[in-house]
Amino acid sequence: MTYDTIIVGGSFAGLSAALYLARARRSVLVLDTGKPRNRFATASHGFFAQDGSDPKVMLDTMRGQVAVYPTVKFRDQKALEVERNGDAFKVVLADGEVVTGSKLLLAFGVSDILPDIPGIAERWGKTVIHCPYCHGYEFSEKRLGVLNLTPVSVHQASLIPEWGPTTFFLNGAPIAPDAKITLEQRGVAIEPEPVVGLIGEGSDLTAVRLGNGSELPLDALFIGPMSRFNSDIAERLGCAIDQGPLGSIVTVDEMKATSIPDVYAAGDITRMGHTVTFACADGVMAALAIHRSLAFGGQ
Ligand SMILES: Cc1cc2nc3c(=O)[nH]c(=O)nc-3n(C[C@H](O)[C@H](O)[C@H](O)COP(=O)(O)OP(=O)(O)OC[C@H]3O[C@@H](n4cnc5c(N)ncnc54)[C@H](O)[C@@H]3O)c2cc1C
Repeated sequence: MTYDTIIVGGSFAGLSAALYLARARRSVLVLDTGKPRNRFATASHGFFAQDGSDPKVMLDTMRGQVAVYPTVKFRDQKALEVERNGDAFKVVLADGEVVTGSKLLLAFGVSDILPDIPGIAERWGKTVIHCPYCHGYEFSEKRLGVLNLTPVSVHQASLIPEWGPTTFFLNGAPIAPDAKITLEQRGVAIEPEPVVGLIGEGSDLTAVRLGNGSELPLDALFIGPMSRFNSDIAERLGCAIDQGPLGSIVTVDEMKATSIPDVYAAGDITRMGHTVTFACADGVMAALAIHRSLAFGGQ
Protein backbone atom coordinates (compact mmCIF):
# COMPACT_ATOMS: atom_id res chain seq x y z
CA MET A 1 0.00 0.00 0.00
CA THR A 2 1.00 3.63 -0.38
CA TYR A 3 0.78 5.40 2.99
CA ASP A 4 -0.55 8.94 3.01
CA THR A 5 2.55 9.89 5.00
CA ILE A 6 5.79 8.25 6.04
CA ILE A 7 7.38 9.80 9.11
CA VAL A 8 11.11 9.33 9.56
CA GLY A 9 11.70 9.59 13.31
CA GLY A 10 9.07 8.60 15.88
CA SER A 11 9.95 10.85 18.80
CA PHE A 12 8.38 14.11 20.02
CA ALA A 13 8.03 15.76 16.60
CA GLY A 14 7.21 12.63 14.61
CA LEU A 15 4.68 11.20 17.06
CA SER A 16 2.92 14.56 17.43
CA ALA A 17 2.48 14.66 13.66
CA ALA A 18 1.35 11.03 13.60
CA LEU A 19 -1.35 11.75 16.20
CA TYR A 20 -2.84 14.63 14.21
CA LEU A 21 -2.72 12.73 10.92
CA ALA A 22 -4.30 9.70 12.57
CA ARG A 23 -7.06 11.88 13.95
CA ALA A 24 -7.58 13.13 10.39
CA ARG A 25 -8.09 9.45 9.48
CA ARG A 26 -5.00 9.33 7.27
CA SER A 27 -2.67 6.36 6.94
CA VAL A 28 0.73 6.89 8.52
CA LEU A 29 3.88 4.81 8.82
CA VAL A 30 6.25 5.85 11.61
CA LEU A 31 9.87 4.72 11.25
CA ASP A 32 12.00 4.96 14.36
CA THR A 33 15.37 3.81 15.65
CA GLY A 34 14.55 4.61 19.29
CA LYS A 35 17.31 7.12 20.05
CA PRO A 36 15.67 10.42 21.05
CA ARG A 37 18.15 13.17 21.77
CA ASN A 38 17.25 13.52 25.46
CA ARG A 39 17.65 9.81 26.25
CA PHE A 40 20.66 10.68 28.43
CA ALA A 41 18.50 12.66 30.88
CA THR A 42 16.43 11.00 33.60
CA ALA A 43 13.95 13.88 33.77
CA SER A 44 12.52 16.22 31.16
CA HIS A 45 11.48 19.69 32.25
CA GLY A 46 9.39 22.53 30.91
CA PHE A 47 6.69 20.59 29.04
CA PHE A 48 3.35 21.23 30.69
CA ALA A 49 1.70 18.29 32.47
CA GLN A 50 4.98 16.36 32.20
CA ASP A 51 7.43 18.60 34.07
CA GLY A 52 10.03 16.33 35.66
CA SER A 53 8.84 13.18 33.86
CA ASP A 54 11.18 10.48 32.58
CA PRO A 55 11.51 11.21 28.84
CA LYS A 56 11.32 7.51 28.01
CA VAL A 57 8.02 7.19 29.88
CA MET A 58 6.74 10.28 28.04
CA LEU A 59 7.61 8.78 24.66
CA ASP A 60 6.24 5.33 25.54
CA THR A 61 2.97 7.01 26.56
CA MET A 62 2.87 9.08 23.39
CA ARG A 63 3.54 6.07 21.22
CA GLY A 64 0.90 4.04 23.07
CA GLN A 65 -1.66 6.76 22.50
CA VAL A 66 -0.83 7.01 18.79
CA ALA A 67 -0.88 3.22 18.39
CA VAL A 68 -4.57 3.15 19.35
CA TYR A 69 -5.46 4.65 15.97
CA PRO A 70 -5.93 1.93 13.35
CA THR A 71 -4.45 3.92 10.45
CA VAL A 72 -1.01 4.20 12.10
CA LYS A 73 1.69 1.58 11.69
CA PHE A 74 5.17 1.48 13.23
CA ARG A 75 8.42 -0.05 12.06
CA ASP A 76 11.37 0.12 14.45
CA GLN A 77 13.68 0.43 11.50
CA LYS A 78 16.12 2.95 10.15
CA ALA A 79 15.12 4.74 6.94
CA LEU A 80 18.23 4.28 4.82
CA GLU A 81 17.35 5.70 1.46
CA VAL A 82 14.53 7.70 -0.04
CA GLU A 83 13.74 8.37 -3.66
CA ARG A 84 10.82 9.92 -5.44
CA ASN A 85 8.91 7.42 -7.51
CA GLY A 86 6.28 9.22 -9.60
CA ASP A 87 3.75 10.72 -7.17
CA ALA A 88 5.17 8.87 -4.19
CA PHE A 89 8.35 8.32 -2.20
CA LYS A 90 10.04 4.95 -1.94
CA VAL A 91 11.81 4.46 1.38
CA VAL A 92 14.30 1.64 1.84
CA LEU A 93 14.54 0.39 5.43
CA ALA A 94 17.60 -1.09 7.10
CA ASP A 95 16.13 -4.61 6.91
CA GLY A 96 15.66 -4.25 3.13
CA GLU A 97 11.91 -3.65 3.19
CA VAL A 98 10.70 -0.97 0.80
CA VAL A 99 7.74 1.19 1.83
CA THR A 100 5.90 3.85 -0.14
CA GLY A 101 4.25 7.10 0.93
CA SER A 102 2.69 10.14 -0.75
CA LYS A 103 4.19 12.62 1.70
CA LEU A 104 7.33 12.49 3.72
CA LEU A 105 7.90 14.04 7.13
CA LEU A 106 11.52 14.22 8.28
CA ALA A 107 11.75 14.25 12.08
CA PHE A 108 14.96 12.31 12.60
CA GLY A 109 16.53 14.74 15.09
CA VAL A 110 20.13 15.67 15.72
CA SER A 111 23.00 14.28 17.79
CA ASP A 112 25.30 16.33 19.95
CA ILE A 113 29.02 16.25 19.22
CA LEU A 114 30.42 16.17 22.75
CA PRO A 115 33.93 17.50 23.41
CA ASP A 116 36.50 14.79 23.87
CA ILE A 117 37.24 15.52 27.55
CA PRO A 118 37.31 12.59 30.00
CA GLY A 119 34.18 12.56 32.17
CA ILE A 120 31.88 14.56 29.90
CA ALA A 121 30.09 11.76 28.02
CA GLU A 122 29.03 9.81 31.14
CA ARG A 123 27.65 12.98 32.79
CA TRP A 124 25.80 14.25 29.71
CA GLY A 125 22.19 15.12 30.55
CA LYS A 126 22.86 14.87 34.29
CA THR A 127 25.58 17.22 35.53
CA VAL A 128 26.89 18.20 32.09
CA ILE A 129 23.97 19.99 30.48
CA HIS A 130 23.24 22.41 27.67
CA CYS A 131 19.81 23.96 28.24
CA PRO A 132 19.41 26.03 31.42
CA TYR A 133 15.62 26.16 30.99
CA CYS A 134 15.54 22.34 30.90
CA HIS A 135 17.96 21.54 33.73
CA GLY A 136 19.27 24.79 35.28
CA TYR A 137 16.62 25.09 37.98
CA GLU A 138 17.81 21.87 39.64
CA PHE A 139 21.23 23.52 40.11
CA SER A 140 19.93 26.84 41.50
CA GLU A 141 22.65 28.69 43.41
CA LYS A 142 25.10 25.80 42.92
CA ARG A 143 28.62 26.27 41.54
CA LEU A 144 28.13 26.46 37.77
CA GLY A 145 30.54 26.41 34.87
CA VAL A 146 30.33 27.03 31.12
CA LEU A 147 32.84 25.43 28.77
CA ASN A 148 34.07 27.52 25.85
CA LEU A 149 33.34 25.46 22.73
CA THR A 150 31.98 27.84 20.07
CA PRO A 151 31.33 31.59 19.67
CA VAL A 152 27.87 30.91 21.20
CA SER A 153 29.52 29.88 24.48
CA VAL A 154 30.08 33.51 25.53
CA HIS A 155 26.36 34.17 25.21
CA GLN A 156 25.63 31.01 27.20
CA ALA A 157 28.08 32.09 29.92
CA SER A 158 26.44 35.51 30.17
CA LEU A 159 23.03 33.88 30.73
CA ILE A 160 23.93 31.24 33.31
CA PRO A 161 24.41 33.64 36.29
CA GLU A 162 20.59 33.77 36.31
CA TRP A 163 20.84 30.32 37.95
CA GLY A 164 23.94 30.61 40.13
CA PRO A 165 27.57 31.76 40.47
CA THR A 166 29.26 31.05 37.16
CA THR A 167 32.79 30.38 35.91
CA PHE A 168 33.54 30.55 32.18
CA PHE A 169 36.24 28.05 31.23
CA LEU A 170 38.09 29.53 28.26
CA ASN A 171 39.62 26.09 27.80
CA GLY A 172 42.92 27.52 26.64
CA ALA A 173 41.37 29.81 23.99
CA PRO A 174 41.65 33.61 23.91
CA ILE A 175 38.69 35.85 24.71
CA ALA A 176 37.74 39.02 22.84
CA PRO A 177 38.00 42.19 25.00
CA ASP A 178 34.30 43.06 24.53
CA ALA A 179 33.24 39.52 25.51
CA LYS A 180 35.43 39.77 28.62
CA ILE A 181 33.76 43.05 29.60
CA THR A 182 30.28 41.54 29.04
CA LEU A 183 31.06 38.55 31.24
CA GLU A 184 32.65 40.66 33.96
CA GLN A 185 29.54 42.88 34.00
CA ARG A 186 27.48 39.72 34.52
CA GLY A 187 29.71 38.68 37.42
CA VAL A 188 31.15 35.67 35.58
CA ALA A 189 34.60 34.47 36.72
CA ILE A 190 36.95 33.65 33.83
CA GLU A 191 39.27 30.64 34.03
CA PRO A 192 41.87 30.55 31.20
CA GLU A 193 43.30 27.03 31.79
CA PRO A 194 42.17 24.09 29.62
CA VAL A 195 39.71 21.65 31.21
CA VAL A 196 41.30 18.19 31.10
CA GLY A 197 38.87 16.12 33.16
CA LEU A 198 35.77 16.00 35.34
CA ILE A 199 35.75 14.68 38.90
CA GLY A 200 32.92 13.10 40.90
CA GLU A 201 31.25 9.79 41.76
CA GLY A 202 29.24 8.26 38.92
CA SER A 203 27.38 11.02 37.10
CA ASP A 204 27.88 13.50 39.96
CA LEU A 205 30.24 16.41 39.46
CA THR A 206 32.31 17.87 42.28
CA ALA A 207 35.15 19.59 40.39
CA VAL A 208 36.87 20.05 37.06
CA ARG A 209 40.55 19.28 36.63
CA LEU A 210 42.54 21.98 34.84
CA GLY A 211 45.60 21.72 32.62
CA ASN A 212 47.90 23.10 35.33
CA GLY A 213 46.89 20.23 37.65
CA SER A 214 44.61 22.28 39.89
CA GLU A 215 40.96 21.41 40.60
CA LEU A 216 38.08 23.89 40.63
CA PRO A 217 34.96 22.82 42.60
CA LEU A 218 31.84 22.68 40.43
CA ASP A 219 28.33 21.17 40.60
CA ALA A 220 27.24 21.47 36.97
CA LEU A 221 28.97 22.24 33.68
CA PHE A 222 27.03 23.81 30.80
CA ILE A 223 28.19 23.11 27.27
CA GLY A 224 26.79 24.21 23.92
CA PRO A 225 28.07 21.54 21.56
CA MET A 226 27.81 21.43 17.78
CA SER A 227 25.22 18.98 16.49
CA ARG A 228 24.75 16.92 13.35
CA PHE A 229 21.71 15.44 11.60
CA ASN A 230 20.95 11.82 12.50
CA SER A 231 20.34 11.08 8.81
CA ASP A 232 21.56 12.44 5.48
CA ILE A 233 18.14 11.95 3.87
CA ALA A 234 17.32 15.68 3.78
CA GLU A 235 20.56 16.45 1.96
CA ARG A 236 20.12 13.54 -0.42
CA LEU A 237 16.60 14.62 -1.30
CA GLY A 238 18.04 18.03 -2.15
CA CYS A 239 16.28 19.93 0.63
CA ALA A 240 17.69 23.43 1.18
CA ILE A 241 19.82 23.48 4.34
CA ASP A 242 20.92 26.51 6.38
CA GLN A 243 24.05 26.61 8.49
CA GLY A 244 23.26 27.64 12.07
CA PRO A 245 25.97 28.50 14.63
CA LEU A 246 25.66 25.02 16.19
CA GLY A 247 24.94 22.91 13.11
CA SER A 248 22.79 22.45 10.02
CA ILE A 249 19.09 23.32 9.93
CA VAL A 250 16.60 22.10 7.31
CA THR A 251 15.02 25.17 5.72
CA VAL A 252 11.24 25.12 6.20
CA ASP A 253 8.41 27.60 5.75
CA GLU A 254 6.00 28.47 8.55
CA MET A 255 3.99 25.31 7.78
CA LYS A 256 7.14 23.13 8.00
CA ALA A 257 7.32 22.48 4.24
CA THR A 258 10.87 22.02 2.95
CA SER A 259 12.12 23.32 -0.41
CA ILE A 260 11.25 19.95 -1.98
CA PRO A 261 7.56 19.38 -2.84
CA ASP A 262 5.74 16.88 -0.56
CA VAL A 263 8.65 16.78 1.89
CA TYR A 264 8.09 18.34 5.33
CA ALA A 265 10.40 18.54 8.33
CA ALA A 266 9.85 19.09 12.04
CA GLY A 267 11.63 19.19 15.37
CA ASP A 268 15.27 19.84 16.17
CA ILE A 269 16.40 19.53 12.55
CA THR A 270 14.37 22.62 11.63
CA ARG A 271 15.27 25.14 14.31
CA MET A 272 17.85 26.66 16.62
CA GLY A 273 15.97 26.48 19.94
CA HIS A 274 15.52 22.84 20.86
CA THR A 275 12.82 21.76 23.31
CA VAL A 276 10.20 19.05 23.54
CA THR A 277 7.48 21.72 23.37
CA PHE A 278 8.84 23.16 20.13
CA ALA A 279 9.30 19.67 18.63
CA CYS A 280 5.71 18.68 19.43
CA ALA A 281 4.36 21.97 18.08
CA ASP A 282 6.40 21.54 14.90
CA GLY A 283 4.97 18.04 14.43
CA VAL A 284 1.43 19.35 14.81
CA MET A 285 2.06 22.16 12.32
CA ALA A 286 3.58 19.78 9.79
CA ALA A 287 0.65 17.41 10.17
CA LEU A 288 -1.85 20.20 9.49
CA ALA A 289 0.08 21.23 6.38
CA ILE A 290 0.36 17.65 5.16
CA HIS A 291 -3.33 17.01 5.74
CA ARG A 292 -4.34 20.13 3.83
CA SER A 293 -2.06 19.15 0.98
CA LEU A 294 -3.52 15.62 0.92
CA ALA A 295 -7.06 17.03 0.95
CA PHE A 296 -6.72 19.95 -1.45
CA GLY A 297 -3.51 19.26 -3.38
CA GLY A 298 -0.60 21.67 -3.61
CA GLN A 299 2.06 22.12 -0.98
C1 LIG B 1 20.63 15.78 27.35
C2 LIG B 1 19.41 16.48 26.86
C3 LIG B 1 18.40 16.81 27.72
C4 LIG B 1 17.26 17.48 27.27
N1 LIG B 1 16.31 17.83 28.17
C5 LIG B 1 15.21 18.49 27.74
C6 LIG B 1 14.22 18.91 28.69
O1 LIG B 1 14.34 18.69 29.90
N2 LIG B 1 13.14 19.57 28.20
C7 LIG B 1 12.98 19.85 26.86
O2 LIG B 1 11.96 20.44 26.49
N3 LIG B 1 13.92 19.46 25.95
C8 LIG B 1 15.01 18.79 26.36
N4 LIG B 1 15.97 18.43 25.45
C9 LIG B 1 15.74 18.70 24.01
C10 LIG B 1 14.87 17.58 23.40
O3 LIG B 1 15.47 16.34 23.65
C11 LIG B 1 14.72 17.76 21.89
O4 LIG B 1 14.32 19.09 21.59
C12 LIG B 1 13.67 16.78 21.33
O5 LIG B 1 14.03 15.45 21.65
C13 LIG B 1 13.56 16.94 19.83
O6 LIG B 1 12.60 16.04 19.35
P1 LIG B 1 12.70 15.49 17.86
O7 LIG B 1 11.47 14.64 17.69
O8 LIG B 1 12.95 16.59 16.91
O9 LIG B 1 14.02 14.59 17.80
P2 LIG B 1 14.49 13.38 18.72
O10 LIG B 1 13.75 13.38 20.02
O11 LIG B 1 15.97 13.43 18.79
O12 LIG B 1 14.00 12.09 17.93
C14 LIG B 1 14.49 11.72 16.67
C15 LIG B 1 14.07 10.26 16.45
O13 LIG B 1 14.37 9.86 15.11
C16 LIG B 1 14.99 8.57 15.13
N5 LIG B 1 15.76 8.44 13.90
C17 LIG B 1 16.93 9.06 13.57
N6 LIG B 1 17.32 8.72 12.34
C18 LIG B 1 16.38 7.85 11.87
C19 LIG B 1 16.24 7.15 10.64
N7 LIG B 1 17.11 7.29 9.61
N8 LIG B 1 15.17 6.31 10.49
C20 LIG B 1 14.25 6.16 11.51
N9 LIG B 1 14.37 6.83 12.70
C21 LIG B 1 15.40 7.66 12.86
C22 LIG B 1 15.80 8.59 16.42
O14 LIG B 1 16.13 7.30 16.85
C23 LIG B 1 14.84 9.32 17.38
O15 LIG B 1 13.96 8.42 18.00
C24 LIG B 1 17.13 17.79 25.89
C25 LIG B 1 18.15 17.45 25.00
C26 LIG B 1 19.30 16.82 25.48
C27 LIG B 1 20.41 16.50 24.52
